[in-house]
Parts: sequence; structure tokens; C-alpha cells
Amino acid sequence: MVLDLQNRLIDLNPAARSILNLPHAQPLGLGVAEALRNHPHLLEQIDTGLEQTCLRIMGRDQIQYFESRLFLVFNRKHPVGKTIILDNLTQQALLIQRLETLAAIEELTNVWNRRHFMERCQRELQRLENLGQPVSLIFVDLDYFKQINDHYGHKTGDEMLRAVAQILRQGLREGDLVGRLGGEEFLILLPATVPDQACQIAERLRSMVELAVLVMQPNLTVTASFGVTGLATAANVSLDELLAKADAALYQAKESGRNRVVCA
Ligand code: GH3
Ligand code: MG
Ligand code: MG
Repeated sequence: MVLDLQNRLIDLNPAARSILNLPHAQPLGLGVAEALRNHPHLLEQIDTGLEQTCLRIMGRDQIQYFESRLFLVFNRKHPVGKTIILDNLTQQALLIQRLETLAAIEELTNVWNRRHFMERCQRELQRLENLGQPVSLIFVDLDYFKQINDHYGHKTGDEMLRAVAQILRQGLREGDLVGRLGGEEFLILLPATVPDQACQIAERLRSMVELAVLVMQPNLTVTASFGVTGLATAANVSLDELLAKADAALYQAKESGRNRVVCA
């Protein structure tokens, strides 16, 4: 695209017209405020003279990502206009998104890994605090898992971990976050859920785990202990505090016999 110094769109090639979804009938010479009114980000770039920026533009069936570079055009050292070049970076952007997802998933169990889970929780807590909504956290730890590994082997142990993660995932809503903290420990963040509800949910998950029969070894069962905590409204609370409370409740669940839910 070529603009004059008054920011009138004086030329653009067919690719730019198509990328920006500008009608063929749109005449040249219009001010950009009108000609590019559907592209506020691009207008902002022109307005501020930012040399380089990223644009998200809705394409025919998917969002497209462009790098937009702005140059002054000189004639014998005098600026006479501006050129804008759009580079389509959609493939690279999608690849980065895929890599980010891969890096966030724990590969054995397919739930969020610890780092990603913690990051998501922090953001979610902030969001819930802004909305004044409740939040609950459940700490899950499989019972006597070392013995299961010792008796049935590490491979079976791995399968159990995978099965339990699947049960947790399937027993929860889309917006609930499930992460593997490490070893045989999982964390669940329940947005917009009061602690009483969270305890009922934990109880349901507990019985689902207990009743689950592994397809490969029908006699093999596993149980888990649950520590639950939460707040009626997420305000002035840190993730660390919630974790410590859920951890203490989990400890009580273990101490009082395992395969149970304790609510802090
Ligand atoms: P408790 O009921 O007190 O939680 O007993 P536990 O045996 O589950 O707890 P402990 O912390 O002593 O042992 C955890 C075991 O989990 C140790 C390890 O063998 C097993 N484990 C940790 N990560 C993995 C894994 O990725 N795969 C398998 N198969 N086992 C794992
Ligand atoms: Mg453990
Ligand atoms: Mg354990």
C-alpha cells in the first residue's frame, strides 16, 4: 500500500486489497480513517508511525497473522509518502501455537503439566477475583502407588496414571483445569465453584476412580485421596495459600485411612 503524507491511500496491489477485504469498487485517494476503518490496529500503526507491528485479520475461514512494516518514501531526502508491506506469517503463528500447546501438556497423562497448570491457575484466579466469583482447588494423590508399581510393574503403573487422568478429565467440566503436579499427584482448579460443591465433585471423582476397572487387568483397582479447599469469593488469595490448604487436607485424608475426601 502507498499513502501520501496526508494519509490518503493512493495505491495498493490486488494482494493487499484481498488481505484487507477492501471492495474492488473502493476508490483510491480516500483517507485511511475511512478506507481502512475495519482495521483499527493498522490505523493505529499509521497514526503512531510504528515501523513494525503484528496484525490479526479474519480471513475467509481462519484468523490470519501478518507482520506490517511501514516505511517513509523519500524523494531527494524529502519525505513524500509512506509504504506499508504486509507479510503473511499465519503458518509460523500456527506452528508456534502448536508448539506452545505441546510444551504445556504432560505427555504421559495428556493433562496440563505443572508449569502450565500453575500459570493458568494464576490467570484464572485473577479473572475470578475481578468477577468476584468463587474458586476451589482439589489436590489428588493416588493411594499406595509405590506398592502398585512394585507389584505390577512400572508400565502398569503408567497405565493407571493415564486412566486416572482420563477419569478426572471426563468427570469435570470443560472450563475446569486439570494438571499433573508430578509423580502420582494431580491438581484440579474449579472456577466459579464454591467449596461445598467442590467437595461433592471430589467425592464423585473419588468413587469413579475406585470403581474404575482397568480393561487390561480387571482385578486391579486403585484408589485416591482428595484434599479440597476453596473460597466463596476469590479475593486476596494466593495460589500458594490455596495449595497449602489443599495439601493439608490431603494429608488428613491420608492419615485418616486414604480413599477419602477431606475438605479444609
Ligand atoms: P500414599 O498412599 O501415602 O500416597 O503412598 P504412595 O505409595 O502413593 O506414595 P509415595 O509418595 O511413597 O510413592 C509415590 C510413588 O509413585 C513412587 C513412584 O514409584 C510412583 N510414581 C511416581 N511417578 C510415576 C510415574 O510416572 N509412573 C509410575 N508408574 N509410577 C510413578
Ligand atoms: Mg505423592
Ligand atoms: Mg500417593
